[in-house]
Amino acid sequence: MNRNGAVGDNEDLIVEYVNQSGRAVMVGDSVKAEEWLTKARKLDPPGVELELARRAWANQSGTPADIKRRRESVVARLGGVAVAAPDRVDVWRQLAEFLRQLGNLEGVLRATASGLKRDPVNIDLWVRRTRAQIELKQLQSASRSLRHCTKLAPTHDGVEALIRVHPMCAVCDALFPHAGAETCEDCGADGPGRGAAVRSVRAKNSSKFDVYFPRVRDVISNSLNMPDRIKKQLTLDTLLKRHLKRSNQQCSTVLRAMTREFGAAFDEPLFKSAVVGFLDVLVADLIRAINPKTDSTIDTGIRQRALADHITRS
Ligand SMILES: [Zn+2]
Repeated sequence: MNRNGAVGDNEDLIVEYVNQSGRAVMVGDSVKAEEWLTKARKLDPPGVELELARRAWANQSGTPADIKRRRESVVARLGGVAVAAPDRVDVWRQLAEFLRQLGNLEGVLRATASGLKRDPVNIDLWVRRTRAQIELKQLQSASRSLRHCTKLAPTHDGVEALIRVHPMCAVCDALFPHAGAETCEDCGADGPGRGAAVRSVRAKNSSKFDVYFPRVRDVISNSLNMPDRIKKQLTLDTLLKRHLKRSNQQCSTVLRAMTREFGAAFDEPLFKSAVVGFLDVLVADLIRAINPKTDSTIDTGIRQRALADHITRS
C-alpha cells in the first residue's frame, strides 16, 4: 500500500483492463466490456473510478454543452467515490483539479479540506487550497495557508511561485492579489505598487533552513552511505520535495545520526513523519527542531543569525 492507500502496481493493470473494456465496447460486446471492468474493480474500485473519470473528462466529443454536462456528471460521480473512500487522497486531489477547471472554487475548498483531514501534510492539496482562497479573495485565509505551505515545503515549486506573486501586507498579513498591487484589499494599506514595504511569507522560515542545511545533508549522506555523486545532488530543494522516500528503518537511522550530531534538541513526538517513511518531511521537522541556543558547534556569525531567527519565531 502506498501513502494514498492505493496499490501502486495495480495502476497499470487497471489501465490495461479499462482499455480492454473500451475495445469490447467498440465491437459491441457489452458483456465482455462489463467483465473487464469487473476484473479491474476487484483490484481497486476507487482506482477504476479515477481512471474512468479521467477518460470521460478528456472526452471532447459533442457540443460544448455536451462536454460541460459530461464533466459535471464526472465530478458528481467522483465526489461520491471520494465520500465513500475518504482515505483516498488521490481521489480528493483529482476531484479538486476537476472542480477548479469547472470554476467551482468553493468545491475546491471542500475537497482539499476533506483530503487534508486524512493527510494533513499533503503539500499538493495545500497549494491547491491556497490558490482557491486567493481566487475567492479570502486573502487572510490564503495568507495563513501559504505560511503553512512554507513550513511544510519551503522550496516546493508551487509554494515558491505563490510567494513570488503574492507578497504579504505588512499591516494586516493579508496576501496581495498580485505583486504590483497598489493597495491591500483587506485593510486598504498601500501595496507594493505604491512602493510600500511588504512582508515576505518566507522570511520567517528560511534562515534556519539555509543555516543548517549543509550539516543536515552531511549527516544524511553519511548515515545512509550515499556516494559523493548522489550527495552532490542533494540540494535543499530535493530534500524537501518528496524526492526522498525511504524505508522507516533508513529514516530512523538518519534520526539517530541527527540526534548524535545535534544533541538533545529532538524529542520523540516530533518524528511521526519518520514512520510514514518520507525522509524529507522528517528533515524539515529536524531542522525546525534544532535549537541554536544549545548548539555550541555552530560558528559565531551563523549562530547570531540563527539565534535571531529562533527568538523571533518563539
Ligand atoms: Zn492589509
